[in-house]
Amino acid sequence: MSTFQAPKGTYDLIPPNSATYLAVREAISVPLRNSSHGYIETPGFENVELFARGVGESTDIVTKEMYAFETKGGDKLALRPEGTASVLRAALEANLHKGGNLPVKLWYSGSYYRYERPQKGRYRHFSQVGAEAIGAEDPALDAELIILAHQAYRSLGLRDFRILLNSLGDKECRPVYRAALQDFLRGLQLDEDTRRRIEINPLRVLDDKREAVQEQLIGAPMLRDYLCEACKTYHEQVRELLTAAGVAFEDDPKLVRGLDYYTRTTFEFVHDGLGSQSAVGGGGRYDGLSEMIGGPALPSVGWALGVDRTVLALEAEGITLDIPAATAVYAVPLGEEARRVLFGKVTELRRAGVATDFAYGGKGLKNAMKSANRSGARLALVAGERDLAEGVVQLKDLVSGEQTAIALDAVVDEVRRALG
Ligand code: AMP
Repeated sequence: MSTFQAPKGTYDLIPPNSATYLAVREAISVPLRNSSHGYIETPGFENVELFARGVGESTDIVTKEMYAFETKGGDKLALRPEGTASVLRAALEANLHKGGNLPVKLWYSGSYYRYERPQKGRYRHFSQVGAEAIGAEDPALDAELIILAHQAYRSLGLRDFRILLNSLGDKECRPVYRAALQDFLRGLQLDEDTRRRIEINPLRVLDDKREAVQEQLIGAPMLRDYLCEACKTYHEQVRELLTAAGVAFEDDPKLVRGLDYYTRTTFEFVHDGLGSQSAVGGGGRYDGLSEMIGGPALPSVGWALGVDRTVLALEAEGITLDIPAATAVYAVPLGEEARRVLFGKVTELRRAGVATDFAYGGKGLKNAMKSANRSGARLALVAGERDLAEGVVQLKDLVSGEQTAIALDAVVDEVRRALG
């Protein structure tokens, strides 16, 4: 293996494409910052126990996909496979829920790690932007988050995504359903692995993609027929609020997610141009998670949107984001004196907020102009001895090729005017 090769299942974000990732993170965070979510950052690793208890001992994420390790000091840690458990842990540790102002609304952006089989859209290191609203049970909060994600995707210009919505019930009705489902599943012809899953996480069997399994699932009891009155009413209100906001969704009674902590509202954003890894984001309500990790009862709801797959979705729809060129002005000095003077002008322009670069490394004119063109700059500033003697620099429009002499002490104003 070459030392220049990123580890399997990972890839680097490099210019110019990396600018799209930044823009996607930014676009997803705008609606969150505009709806009173405060920014939170937590460590890239946690005590493994947090995920085992929070995400769930029976999930693939914990049993198969976690990067868990023991430190030299004997601490059992894991790279974070998702954001919610960490954010809730941090909120509890800082007593944010005791500030008398619930829900605590937080947003985050960062790297996550899962030891999965890599394929297009599925990586071992990926990036998410997420939001959590901790400590309130209110269907408007569930609706709010779905509406904000919808707004984020729309602001990027995406159209070919759908919202799948379901309710997973609560601690009253889900156990009854779970037992009924187990009864049904135990009567089917299933392999040993799946049989084991029936006992620890029967809802996940519904999610099995294999046709031979899906065929047998026809007639399986559906959770929606087991929802208690409180869950039904709650879900109906979420649906009504979404409809009133003009956000279309599809009821998907089979939608279960890969994390154990969800209760009631669960949803997924899927994009139709992505093939098998079609989920671009997902989330739901997790009313029991705080207690699962040893905290007080704090009903909460959240989502995480995948940045990598959102970028793939943009590609699938042929959308290129309008990202301003990294460089607007490129300065080309001819000779030592010009280097000194133009470098000063570069600093002045940058301080004035104009994205400016400089021909470093003593390039000749021809090479320097090539670099200027490659930089994407609209304008070049070129100066030699004679220009300086006259107190001017040449301002060249790199698109039209037009060139004019401008006074040295008016560079910032002239450049601004030329850039419009
Ligand atoms: P989850 O935390 O599993 O609900 O995932 C939320 C979102 O994160 C998904 O919809 C994906 O967009 C993204 N995601 C999850 N796992 C991966 C992965 N292995 N590679 C790339 N993106 C992922």
